[in-house]
Amino acid sequence: PGEQAEPDPTKKTLVVLGTGWGSVSLLKKLDTENYNVVVISPRNYFLFTPLLPSCTTGTIEHRSIMEPIRNFLRHKKAAVKYYEAEATKIDYEKRIVYINDESEIKGATTTNEVKFDMLVVGVGAENATFGIPGVREHGCFLKEVSDAQRIRKRIMDCCETATFKDQSPEEIKRLLHMVVVGGGPTGVEFAGELQDFFENDLRKWIPEIANNFHVTLVEALPQVLPMFSKNLIDYTEQTFKEETIEIRTKTMVKNVTEKYIEAEYTDAAGVKQLDKIPYGLLVWATGNALRPVVKDLMSQIPAQKDSRRGLVVNEHLVVKGAENVWAIGDCAIANYAPTAQVASQEGAFLARLFNQMAKTDEIQEELSLLSEKQAVAANKELRDGIFGDIKELQKRLRRVKQMGPFEYSHQGSLAYIGSEKAVADISWFTGNLASGGQLTYLFWRSAYLSMCFSTRNRVLVIMDWMKSPDKGFPLVIFS
Ligand code: FAD
Ligand code: NAD
Repeated sequence: PGEQAEPDPTKKTLVVLGTGWGSVSLLKKLDTENYNVVVISPRNYFLFTPLLPSCTTGTIEHRSIMEPIRNFLRHKKAAVKYYEAEATKIDYEKRIVYINDESEIKGATTTNEVKFDMLVVGVGAENATFGIPGVREHGCFLKEVSDAQRIRKRIMDCCETATFKDQSPEEIKRLLHMVVVGGGPTGVEFAGELQDFFENDLRKWIPEIANNFHVTLVEALPQVLPMFSKNLIDYTEQTFKEETIEIRTKTMVKNVTEKYIEAEYTDAAGVKQLDKIPYGLLVWATGNALRPVVKDLMSQIPAQKDSRRGLVVNEHLVVKGAENVWAIGDCAIANYAPTAQVASQEGAFLARLFNQMAKTDEIQEELSLLSEKQAVAANKELRDGIFGDIKELQKRLRRVKQMGPFEYSHQGSLAYIGSEKAVADISWFTGNLASGGQLTYLFWRSAYLSMCFSTRNRVLVIMDWMKSPDKGFPLVIFS
């Protein structure tokens, strides 16, 4: 293992796109010796996204939630090829993926086509901007490590510039206004982390900013965290109030400029108003959009014509209208929310499916050999013996082929809301358990620790929490 062996011509080539929750969960459980496995992704590490908001404020170090894909692949039984590249186009009929090396040092151009017998699309999603002008130029997203680093730098830059000599009071106010657009879990968790950062560190480091530092969360819908129960939504809104985070619901951002956003809301008289909201930091967290490679694949397949949000898959996660192509995670539409939980269960399902398919192929080969033997068998006794073996194999084949459809098992929703509080909607035996507060925060911590990719990640995350002066040691003991 670990050696970059030549592909075995007797085996099918399985190409896996992406190194996120879906693809890595598939690779974890896949018996790689059954296929020539090729992994293609521009990101050569797995990222534990649930703790990414904590990276923006330095509570968690980036390397604690990154796991190099090479380190993981080298432990697989059979060698897996990895190419650091982006899939730019999928020709599902010719069974070719076109890839592009986007990194600074380019690979040979001859590697820009990869043939496959089976393909798994696990490329995730892009950040949605809904075409709102200025978002890409002036806002920060929160999806990758580089985003978290950028946000961190920008927070500090705003604070330092606000205290620079001769700043006007308006400019100080603007620079210290941290605006988060999108009241889904990403926006809520980031707003909570940012307010913690201010309370625990910034306020002490730079007392001059204390009166002007202000976090606002802007959400188009009437409430934040729509996927949580009503009492947890209320609890979150109440906690934000206590933390002095302003929530502006029913407010839709329409335009973004370098120094302010323009947001539409309806006033008490029912008249639509456009508000100019100055900001120093703008974090844009309005959900997912399709990646170009997915959009392009959908446009080639007539059965995907009516889909807008991703590749429609059947109950075995096969992309509708395409043979030998599967899709998992945020780029697939299987009627579940685009979460890590769903992506990882889909990946694990495909691994089981592919392991079984390999067994099926093996049995079928054995069966055809036995049939040939039976046809030329010299006497009845021999023929009867072979017949018995065939019956036995056919029974095994039926058992192996009996793989049910993908069924998602929802373990619950969790979100950190700041000041050491979390909200949780947990599936509990037959019912649901909704809880919020500091105990839930301990649960949040232990749940995320147990979900960490490796022991190394787990130890690093615990150490980060212990180092954090206000979120530190006592809480880790419970984890
Ligand atoms: P991703 O994990 O995004 O992986 C996609 C992979 O594809 C990446 O490796 C990427 O580099 C690669 N890729 C991109 N383009 C190409 C291309 N053209 N060719 C090849 N490879 C490509 N979900 C939860 O359930 N719980 C949480 O607490 C939670 N917290 C979150 C916090 C944040 C800040 C964010 C942003 C998301 C969070 N999510 C959470 C959602 C969760 O991260 C996603 O649902 C999950 O990552 C989806 O997995 P995926 O494999 O589809 O995509
Ligand atoms: P989301 O889609 O959950 O929420 C985006 C929010 O932005 C929506 O409520 C939408 O109404 C709002 N919005 C859109 N356009 C707007 C505009 N112009 N002005 C104001 N508001 C606007 O997005 P997310 O929070 O990034 O989450 C994406 C996915 O990842 C979800 O499935 C989520 O469940 C998952 N996730 C889960 C967790 C967790 O479980 N803790 C954390 C982060 C993300």
